[in-house]
This record gives sequence, C-alpha cells and structure tokens, in this order.
Amino acid sequence: MYIVQVASECAPVVKAGGLGDVVFGLSRELENQGHIVDIILPKYDCMRYDHIWGLHEEYNDLWVPWGGGSIHCTVFGGKVHGRNCFFIEPHSNENFFNRGNYYGNNDDNLRFAFFSRAALEYMCVSSKRPEIIHCHDWQTGLLPVMLFEQYKYRGMDRQRVCYTIHNFKHQGGGGVNILGAIQLDNHGYYLSPDRLKDTSIPNHINFMKSGIVYSNAVNTVSPHHAWEARFGSEGYGLGHTLYVHEDKFRGILNGLDYKIWNPEVDEYIPMPFGPDDFELKAYNKKGLRERLWLEEKDRPIIAYVGRLDDQKGVGLVHHALEYALRRSAQFVLLGSATSDAIKNLFWQIKHRLNDHPDVHLELSFDEELSHLIYAGADMMVVPSNYEPCGLTQMISLKYGTVPIVRGVGGLVNTVFDYDYDENHPPEERNGFVFYQTDVTALESAMHRALELWYTDRKGFNKLAVQGMRCDYSWRNSVKSYVEVYEKIKAE
Ligand code: ADP
Repeated sequence: MYIVQVASECAPVVKAGGLGDVVFGLSRELENQGHIVDIILPKYDCMRYDHIWGLHEEYNDLWVPWGGGSIHCTVFGGKVHGRNCFFIEPHSNENFFNRGNYYGNNDDNLRFAFFSRAALEYMCVSSKRPEIIHCHDWQTGLLPVMLFEQYKYRGMDRQRVCYTIHNFKHQGGGGVNILGAIQLDNHGYYLSPDRLKDTSIPNHINFMKSGIVYSNAVNTVSPHHAWEARFGSEGYGLGHTLYVHEDKFRGILNGLDYKIWNPEVDEYIPMPFGPDDFELKAYNKKGLRERLWLEEKDRPIIAYVGRLDDQKGVGLVHHALEYALRRSAQFVLLGSATSDAIKNLFWQIKHRLNDHPDVHLELSFDEELSHLIYAGADMMVVPSNYEPCGLTQMISLKYGTVPIVRGVGGLVNTVFDYDYDENHPPEERNGFVFYQTDVTALESAMHRALELWYTDRKGFNKLAVQGMRCDYSWRNSVKSYVEVYEKIKAE
C-alpha cells in the first residue's frame, strides 16, 4: 500500500512529545512490512535540520488556495533517518512556520488549517495518489473535510483517511473565518451539529470533531483510552461524537521504535545492556550520577521524564520528588513546562534544591539526556491525570527502569502491578500501579517499590528484567493499522 502520513511532528526532526515518536516509528515499521510511506510536515524554522539528509527543493510552484487568493509555497524533500519526508514552506507575511516554536501561537488554528490544505494541494498537483492518508491530531482534523468536500472533485476520489487522536484535550477550532480561509463558504451546512460545529462554543468549528466525522476510520492510541474517551470524561466533550461514529472508532496501542529505544544498541548511553546482562545497567547509573552531579551511594534513583503539563499530574511529580528524598532515594527530573505557572514552580524547586546531592532538575528538552536517564534510573514515576498511551513507561520498561504509574489510559494496557494485578501471573508483572489522584495513593505505590528495592534487591531486579522482556514493538500495532487501512481501502 502507499500511505501518506500528514502530521505536525516527526521525530527526531520535529518532536514535542509522543506524537513525533509515533509518526516516525509507525512509518518505519510500515516500510519494514513492505508498504510505501511519505511523510508531509510543515517546514519549521526551528526544527532539527541536522537530522535531515539531502534537503532539496522538490516542488517550487505550489499555490495553495487560501481565503480570497492563494499562497505560494515551496516543498522541500529530504530523508529523516531513512524516511521520505516533505516539508512545506509557505511564502507569506504570516510566516506560519517561522515562529521559533512549533505550537503556542494565537493563530495556531489558522497555521495548521493552512498546513492541512497545503498538504492536500501538494498531493493533488504532484499526482501523489496514496491509498491511505493518515492524519494525526487536531492539526490535521480539517484535512478529511477538504478531501471529501473539495479535492474529491479534483481527482482525489479514491483516497481514504485514517485519523489518529493522540490527545483529546487539544481539539483545535475557531470561528467561521477559518471556513472562509479554506474556502468552505456554505457556513450553515458545515456549522451543523452533525458536521463541524463545536459542541459547546456557538458559531465555532472544532477541528478534531471534523476529523472524527469525516474520516473513514478513527482511533486513539490505546484500547483503554478509547473506552475512557467514549464512556468517561476523557473525550473532553467529544464522547457523543464518538458514540455516533462508534463503528469506525477503536484503540490501537502505540508501539516503541526499538531501533531507537533499545539499551543493547543505544549510542547515547555509556554501557549497553540487555535482560541477560542486567548488572551492566549499574554503569549507566554511575554515568547518570556523574553527568548530573549526584552523590555516589547505594540508593535508588527515581526519575521523571516528560512534559511538565497539567495532564502529567505535575503536583504529584513534585510530591514524588519530596517523598523520594524523605525515603533517602535520589530523584532526577527532565521536563519542559507548558505554562509559565508550571515553569515558575519548577524553577523555584530547582533553586531551592540546587546544592542538594540527591536531586537534579533539568528544565529543558534534551533527547540525549533522556536516554541516559532511562538507562541509569531504577524507577520512573508517571502519575498522569490522563494518558492516551504514554511512551515514557514503555521506554522505561525496555531499559529495566521499573515504572510507578497511575492506572489510566494506555498505562493500564502496559503496566501490571507487582502485588495486585489479577489478570497477569507474577512472571508477567512489570511495575507498580496506583489509581487515585491523591498523594497517599502515590506514596503507597512508591513505598511498595522502594521497599522491594531496599529489602529484596534480587526480587526488584527480577521485576525490572521482566519489564525488559515485554514486547511493545511496533510490529503488533502496525498489524492493527494495516487491518484498518485494508478495511477502509475496500470501502
Ligand atoms: P506526551 O506525548 O503526552 O508528551 P508520551 O509519554 O507519549 O507523552 O511521550 C513523551 C516522549 O517525549 C517520550 O519519548 C519522552 O522521552 C519524550 N520527552 C518528553 N519530555 C522530554 C524532555 N524534556 N526531554 C527529552 N525528551 C522528552
């Protein structure tokens, strides 16, 4: 099959979180299984150009219809670690993708509505006719609308859309000016409740809802989160839309790219190791301590790696740090804040603990350091409020770092409690799970993990090795996506 992925991220060239990893890993495994994949991305000024090979002008004369006129774009081609990528660069006063960031601008809705349109226009005029267009998250929610309302009549009537939702909280949207910009002028038709109309804001369209309504297949990134979105509050207002479209909605667990996330071949860590020589992990712990100026002693290191965002349970992350210190453990945090309030909170904590020999907070995005932390830490806390899939716990498992997680979303599908999981025999268990959002629940799970580390090191290491043997590779997940592609292709 020929598949085009349209997304706002693809690791490592553009990565703000798990979406980037997923677009890259999914594409690589699809190619391993014999499919052809192109990836279309915005050409951001701030992406990691050092990860693009052979960047060149691929198509210089792309005119993207927009509002009352059109915007001239250049499409660049290049390989990102073997993947075929196309980067769209618009030439207009808005400077859509020259902002020094990926997200966080007042006109993000227009920026990505434009990107979706430009991706379609490029496919249309360059005669790319994939069987499947795979769209990701709110940024590309309007693409299937334009495909089936406009581009279908311009020779793209055989394409089918698979739409993957990585985070229901960020849905994208705006006023009818966006319909004008993408030249869908019949406002009454598009603003009806069963099409693009936002469920709560009058006269607004909702990008993610549009993606759900218009795509041929829709999924989120774990089976448990699919259930939560449909029946709980995790659909952030889209539960009813999912109910209406339940026949095409499901959960497919993300995979991990084990070519990148594998301690046996990881170039960013001082000592490779695997489940058969787990004792070598100790060298990485030493390396981590040296790098972050932590005191060398016989103590566990507990880590947090992730965005510092309300989604991730930042209050509990902070509490985990304090509790770790109370229990004489060491704590390492690598995170970038998504709001000024959270940034200030963690800078204050960092200043207060600056000279503490058992703590290090790194408040930035640092891919290389994250590898060393996964390899060197003993435990990883993931106390998320909600977690569509979560890659952190899957990476931790692969690196023999025992996850301590809140039982929500994809964490439920991947981490099985050492003491209490009734659905998995002891030899398949791999971590510690708590359910409530209060500090007592977190502490009780951390306590169980720490007790095991302090009193039964062999038992703890055995649990870590069991985690390393779990298979969360893309192989299985890609099978599920191919199943979906085959099904909608035949429709
Ligand atoms: P989300 O997509 O919600 O951010 P995931 O757990 O699905 O969370 O994916 C997070 C990915 O981003 C992981 O690969 C994690 O290692 C990486 N990551 C998050 N924050 C940072 C950071 N500050 N520095 C380096 N890597 C990070």
